[in-house]
Amino acid sequence: MTSLPDTSQPGQKKLGLVIDLDTCVGCQACAVACKEWNDQGWSAPLTDIDPYGAQPLGVWLNRVHGYEAGEGETARTVHFPRSCLHCEDAACVTVCPTGASFKRAEDGIVLVDPDTCIGCKLCSWACPYGAREYDPDQGVMRKCTLCVDRIYNENLAPEDRVPACVKACPTGARHYGDLGDPNSDISKLVDERQGYDLLPELGYKPVNKYLPPRRRPVGEHLAAMDSVAEEGNSLTERFFRWADKALSR
Ligand code: SF4
Ligand code: SF4
Repeated sequence: MTSLPDTSQPGQKKLGLVIDLDTCVGCQACAVACKEWNDQGWSAPLTDIDPYGAQPLGVWLNRVHGYEAGEGETARTVHFPRSCLHCEDAACVTVCPTGASFKRAEDGIVLVDPDTCIGCKLCSWACPYGAREYDPDQGVMRKCTLCVDRIYNENLAPEDRVPACVKACPTGARHYGDLGDPNSDISKLVDERQGYDLLPELGYKPVNKYLPPRRRPVGEHLAAMDSVAEEGNSLTERFFRWADKALSR
């Protein structure tokens, strides 16, 4: 069993992402930028087997799902980018028998050391978010590194020292920063937009947050969000049910 660092101290750095479900357009730029960057750095190689065949099998550290909500003129497509949330109580780390999965004390980033990973897949069973990807070619587990080899990279211009997905997003739907600092821009954004944790009831305490889609008037009707609230269920409840289903695939 691998232990977790104590992240409860005030001032503890918690680097992570905030993803705006209101402005994500599902263009996949973040997923492609992630694959491109991570295929040459810490996570390389990111295997692709039969990429253009009938049953392609590849490793992607960030995947974007989409679903339709509502009907008629109130219908709306919601896009849901999915990657590691760098949880504080990450069972993917504690189940690891070799210490290959670990959470860094200095910034909270969760990583996998490919040299000591034995490919047992216990961590992917422990992750409720489907954020880990097994590389069958290399026999090791892969996951989002928060571009640890970009954000501290002094060979890059300061404005480029952000995760590749954040840099690539054309709508500015992805934000990066220190969620352990209540005065950081990213923490203020979470406060302003009522950002939330995915599946908080599981107790993993994800660092990454999601910002909910905003209400939008459509003709004489109420916002599209109202149309997806059926039988008294809120959008958030419906979203969690959908995310549950998507993540269990
Ligand atoms: Fe681990 Fe999954 Fe949380 Fe990432 S999202 S830290 S892989 S439990
Ligand atoms: Fe640890 Fe690798 Fe096993 Fe995951 S697959 S639990 S990282 S040894």
